[in-house]
Amino acid sequence: MYRSHTCGELRESHIGIDVTLSGWVHKTRDKGFVVWVDIRDRYGITQLVFDEDRTATSLLETARGLGREFVIQVMGTVIERASKNNNIPTGSIEVLVKELTVLNKSKTPPFTIENETDGGEDLRMKYRYLDIRRNPVKNNLIFRSKVTMEVRKFLSDQGFIEVETPYLIKSTPEGARDFVVPSRMNEGQFYALPQSPQTFKQLLMVGGMDKYFQIVKCFRDEDLRADRQPEFTQIDCEMAFVEQEDILDVFEGLTKYLLKEIKGISVDKFPRMTFDDAMAKYGNDKPDIRFGMEFGELNEVAQHKDFNVFNAAELVVGIAVPGAAEYTRKELDALVNWVKRPQVGALGMVYVKCNPDGTFKSTVDKFYSEEDLANWAKKTGAKPGDLICVLSGETNKTRTQLSALRMEMAQRLGLRNPEVFAPLWVVDFPLLELDEETGHYHAMHHPFTSPKPGQLELLDTDPAAVRANAYDLVLNGNEIGGGSIRIHDAETQAIMFKHLGFTPEEAKAQFGFLMDAFQYGAPPHGGIAFGLDRLVSILGGQETIRDFIAFPKNNSGRDVMIDAPAPIDDEQLKELNLKLDIPSK
Ligand code: ASP
Repeated sequence: MYRSHTCGELRESHIGIDVTLSGWVHKTRDKGFVVWVDIRDRYGITQLVFDEDRTATSLLETARGLGREFVIQVMGTVIERASKNNNIPTGSIEVLVKELTVLNKSKTPPFTIENETDGGEDLRMKYRYLDIRRNPVKNNLIFRSKVTMEVRKFLSDQGFIEVETPYLIKSTPEGARDFVVPSRMNEGQFYALPQSPQTFKQLLMVGGMDKYFQIVKCFRDEDLRADRQPEFTQIDCEMAFVEQEDILDVFEGLTKYLLKEIKGISVDKFPRMTFDDAMAKYGNDKPDIRFGMEFGELNEVAQHKDFNVFNAAELVVGIAVPGAAEYTRKELDALVNWVKRPQVGALGMVYVKCNPDGTFKSTVDKFYSEEDLANWAKKTGAKPGDLICVLSGETNKTRTQLSALRMEMAQRLGLRNPEVFAPLWVVDFPLLELDEETGHYHAMHHPFTSPKPGQLELLDTDPAAVRANAYDLVLNGNEIGGGSIRIHDAETQAIMFKHLGFTPEEAKAQFGFLMDAFQYGAPPHGGIAFGLDRLVSILGGQETIRDFIAFPKNNSGRDVMIDAPAPIDDEQLKELNLKLDIPSK
């Protein structure tokens, strides 16, 4: 028996009994006549004591030879500690060791296994197995497991069945590139790894599994943005015989359940906002509504004066930043420079200080009267003491820029409190989105999303105006879930493919299996998928999803621990019938 107790278990009530513990050497303190060793495992730390009076000399010597992270097993008696440590649960006792076995030695670890480590990100990733011994990482993994257990519990209580779908498939378009896997047995042919189980879960609905879920890996070969992983986990769900309302109801229920079970927080009915409103009020389809600073559109009150920048703009729009009227000239200049950074891309910014005495001072006083500025204050909801920041230009761009400023100001003002949870549904997304580069429309969600009833005809005349039965669940400025009611008849699906630029042959080659299935009694259906990594990190009150993934990839999509991706040898290439013709550098 390696252990009778864990290293986090012993208390005063155990004093006097003999125990066996196994774990890692966390720390050793040698005072000459007495040696203390902290032994650590997943559950905690227990102090071991060896001393000249009570311990055999050879044992004391072995204890002195222990290095950090050695794996040891000890047998000894639980005794009361002379100086207690109230910071740890085992702090009242120690174990007087009678037997010590070194189970394995360890090299000195490249960074300290402490809550605050001296290891940088790269080093920690290279030795992730050591990083996982640290409390912050370990606790995040335990937290993630708890969340997934609760998800499974809730959904199975609601009658959902967990079904696994294959990883070696054909492309499922979710707007990214596919990772492909060459098939050795089918020369020149490739599988694609699923960007999501979308088509399979729809086929499960045709198969009559009317409530499906799966906690599943998805793979998307995207240019990596900060905090994106090429493989990530979804809570993927689908239901048959449902309307949008049914889906929102069930998954609002799941989210509320998680907030309650995991965070102890009760949330009322989630607000709903149309995509158009979200864009107009927050410049963003995943608004953070933990704080205000809603957009005030100023065209009406700022145009047709002598200020040509505004007159020429499609949109003039501002926000009131609480309490920022007292910013110094230097701080204001810095703010203007912030919006002009290439990452934000504004050409400039007009601002108005709303003085505490009710007067205004702006960068455009030449063009606007106090009364004009009072109107701006009204539209943006500015109060005395606030700073109105105004951007102008092309509508979408300007909204995106002001949204970036709104988030930045909220961050600076400490309004993005990770312990406050503000979920909402964003609904009525456009069905299609114009790709500025190619001039083609593509599906904003995916090609299987159904248009709102009665809007199919609009596809011919005004495609951008067509709204979809699509919805996102947004939490604290993050899209944590998204889904739609699907098309479930072959004719509509064919029309959809046509509008997405597929020839009938291409559609048949790529999605013939789905169109075929739709001819055998496909029920009305719809679903949603949650991004589990992001959900867990938000519930855990932290920003980065990497910290909640056991073995994440870095920002260049590499696993630096196992050193992947990596070249494969010629033999393997030959077997796969792949010829690599990479010019040598
Ligand atoms: N497959 C979709 C996605 O990955 C989710 C859904 O429509 O259910 O975003």
